[in-house]
Amino acid sequence: MCSGRVDLAFVLRAFSNGMDGVFIGGCRLNECNYDTDGNYHALNMVLLCRKIMEHIGLNPERLKIEFMTSGEGILFAEVMSEFGKKVNKLGPLGKAEGIDQKELKSKLAEITKLVPYIKLVKNEKLASRLESPEEYDKLFTKDEIDRLFSEVISYYIDPEKCQACMTCAKRCPVEAILSAKNQIHVVDQEKCIKCGTCFEVCPPKFRAVTKISGEPVPPPIPEEKRTIVRKGKEKAEKDKE
Ligand code: SF4
Ligand code: SF4
Repeated sequence: MCSGRVDLAFVLRAFSNGMDGVFIGGCRLNECNYDTDGNYHALNMVLLCRKIMEHIGLNPERLKIEFMTSGEGILFAEVMSEFGKKVNKLGPLGKAEGIDQKELKSKLAEITKLVPYIKLVKNEKLASRLESPEEYDKLFTKDEIDRLFSEVISYYIDPEKCQACMTCAKRCPVEAILSAKNQIHVVDQEKCIKCGTCFEVCPPKFRAVTKISGEPVPPPIPEEKRTIVRKGKEKAEKDKE
């Protein structure tokens, strides 16, 4: 119903499914029926997505947003016809840009995985209300987007510090932490959406969760080495011997 509902992931999915162009139609800016300004959110998402497309080598002209009312049928037909012609001229997605189809799919999949992280990091800008089209190009810059991907943050649990208190696992929104009683916890990097909750909630006396930026994450500790032997228990075992 509202263009504000069009998520960045939807646009990436359309391209991933081979669409050559994506058009988003929204209500006219400053004429939102509610107080949500969803059309501004859609505009900001499109500006961000266009920069991301440039980053991976896709022509950003393949994504278009236009604002109009439901009574402007003729305008809609004109805009769609013009956009259709443009997309035809651009040619097939990826092929026209000289990107191998497999490589494009994997790039889009990689970016899609980072959508929650991107939305979190760019939250403020995505919620901004631009006053004029002159501001559109300045909202997200090429350098900023290049940095966004080169400095992606990963969360890692230091096996030397984790005390298996289970706090992080209980609070992780996507069950991305391998957790069991008396077992050193491990972040499943494939599932992690990089929300940072585990970093925030790990008790200060342990500080076991660390942020790693732009570097590979150390491999997870093998399962057989995850058991934590508590000092009291160790002593009792020795006394028994
Ligand atoms: S960063 Fe968020 S999603 Fe990732 S493991 Fe920590 S709590 Fe879970
Ligand atoms: S909150 Fe910290 S100490 Fe507790 S299980 Fe998670 S990483 Fe380990």
